[in-house]
Order: sequence, then C-alpha cells, then structure tokens
Amino acid sequence: MSNKVHTEVIIDASKLPSTTNSETSKHLLDYKKFIDSKSLYYSGPLNNAKIRSIQPKVAYQCKMNILMEERELIWSKKPSKKRQNHCIQPIFDIWSDYQFQLPLLSDKKSEQKRSLTEHDYTTNCEACQGQGSINCTNHRCINGSEKCLSCTQGRKSDGTQCPSCKNGLVNCKTCNGKGRLQCTKCEGCGAFYNSAVLHVSWETRISTWYYQNSFLPEEKIAQADKISLWSKSETPWTKESTIEDFVHTINDQNSNVPLKANVIKDYKEKHLNETINLKNKMRRLICDIERLDFEEIEYILESKYLNKHDPSKGNKFRFCQYKDAQGHDIIYENDYPLNSCGCMGGCCACYNCSCTIL
Ligand SMILES: [Zn+2]
Ligand SMILES: [Zn+2]
Ligand SMILES: [Zn+2]
Repeated sequence: MSNKVHTEVIIDASKLPSTTNSETSKHLLDYKKFIDSKSLYYSGPLNNAKIRSIQPKVAYQCKMNILMEERELIWSKKPSKKRQNHCIQPIFDIWSDYQFQLPLLSDKKSEQKRSLTEHDYTTNCEACQGQGSINCTNHRCINGSEKCLSCTQGRKSDGTQCPSCKNGLVNCKTCNGKGRLQCTKCEGCGAFYNSAVLHVSWETRISTWYYQNSFLPEEKIAQADKISLWSKSETPWTKESTIEDFVHTINDQNSNVPLKANVIKDYKEKHLNETINLKNKMRRLICDIERLDFEEIEYILESKYLNKHDPSKGNKFRFCQYKDAQGHDIIYENDYPLNSCGCMGGCCACYNCSCTIL
C-alpha cells in the first residue's frame, strides 16, 4: 500500500486489463453497498457508473506538543524584629539562576514553588523610622500628660486642690501616660522581613495539523488507521531553536505533499509567532507524524447527473476509500447526487439536478 503513494497513477478503466477491471468493479460494489446503507440515498445510477481513475493518495496527521514555562517572583513582607545584614534587594535572574526538573509528558499543567531564602532581606519601617513606636497622636499630650480641664495648675477656682489631677496635669488616655504609641504598620517590630518565592508553572500547548493531497475531512483522517511515520522529541527546546534543523530528518521527497515545509510553517505561525512577545519560555518540543495511505476513486454517471458540489466536474464524481482503526473499509464522499435534500419529501432521494442542497 505504502509504495503506491510515490506515484500518481491514473487508471483509465476502459484500457485496464481484466484483473484490474475486477478491482474497479470491487470499488463500485463497495461504493454501492455504502450508498445503499445510507437512508434517503438512491443507488440506482451506480449500476451504469464507470470508474475513471483510482489514485493513491496520502494524508498526514502532525501532532505537536510544546512545553511552555512561566516564572514569577513573588515578594512578601512581614513585620519582624529579626535583622539581616544586607538591606538592599539583590539582583538576580529568575530565568537563568534556578534550575527546575521539567514535568512529566503526561502532565498537561503543573507548577512548583521555591523559597529563595538566600535573598531574604530586612527593611526599616518608614512610619516609625525603625523604632517600633511613634509619638502619641493626641495633640494635647506632652510626654504622656495633658492639661487638666477642671483646674488651673492644680487649684480649683475656690482655691482648693483639684482632686482629678496632679499639679494641673492628667495622664493621657490615648497613650496611657507613656507618650508613645506602638507603630501599627510594623506591629511594633520596627522592621520588615522581605522574602521571595519563585513560582514556576508549565503548560503543554498541543496542536494537531493535517496535510493531504485529497479531500478527506480532518476528523476522518483522525479516525483512520494510520501508521507512525516520524517522531522526535527535543529537550531543551527554546524559542530561538531552529525548527528547520528539528524537522531535518522528515523524509517527504517521494510525496507530493510538502510535509516538512508545512510543519515549519505551522510551527512558526501557530506557536512561535503567537508566543514570541510573551514573557514565557519553550522548554520541550515533541512532534509525532502519522500517515494514512488511501485511494481516491473518480467515476462517471449518466450525463443527466450533475456534480452539485463542483459543477465544473459535470457528471464526474469521486469518493475516498481507506480503513479505520478497526480495519473496516470506510468510504467518504461529498458529492453523490442522489441523496435527499428534503425538497422531494422526507423519504426519497433528490432526483432533481437543479437542487442546490447537497
Ligand atoms: Zn513602624
Ligand atoms: Zn486638675
Ligand atoms: Zn498621649
């Protein structure tokens, strides 16, 4: 099967030897069976159908997994009496100064956190200049005392000693006579302890692309029985790595589908360009390519039947034949003329070639 892909053989049914004729009639029989299996399709015209060509075709499924990494440094600041020697935030590179083990292939999303205790530092509290306390906020308070409002310097207006104060002064209630209040910013510690935690998260970007020289829908290629053609994994992989080198060993010389060029183009357009300006890194690239070999069969019906999918084809139609993962023969077509569109009622195929619904 695989060797058929290398050449595009167009078989003219009228000139075929009898053995291949039986092959072409087998294609028509399979096709008729398929049409009969579909409700509202009418297979009658296939009795006079002629196969025009059987061409080997190829489709590729390319699955690309790219491990993307993000890093973020989160500083936290807590009141502390403990002092570090240095008090200036050190400079370091969160991307290159720390190594992490990459997650397993099976992890779609994962993360790690690491405390960078070697970079911890302390800063003085600006509200209290590192003292842990501030002057009493009661503007009448002088060193913890304020003037008694019931007397003048300890004497009442009748000359008696004031019972409420001592020499005309009372304790300030705001600071309980201390004259200072605990700094609320640093909870009395006078300093803050700054510590950094490096957060690293990974996510796998997955794309599946399809390339072919026929007309199979992507979901059909996805379900078909394919063979593994090429597989490669590279770690480390970065945004600066060269995709041309990575795909260098893909052999597409004998295929008329430019597989290598397609993979390069899709990688650049759908992964690299989308992430090039983002602050993240590529860490690993895995690419798996599978191949499906199949046949595209072109046939002719009587001239009264028109290809509504592509009127330029006149009375020529085509279908694809391949195997699914269970080994069953599968047929795909999208232009058979006698399927129901509803315009002739719900239970019969459409015989009217002017009908525009396929
Ligand atoms: Zn403070
Ligand atoms: Zn008093
Ligand atoms: Zn006070």
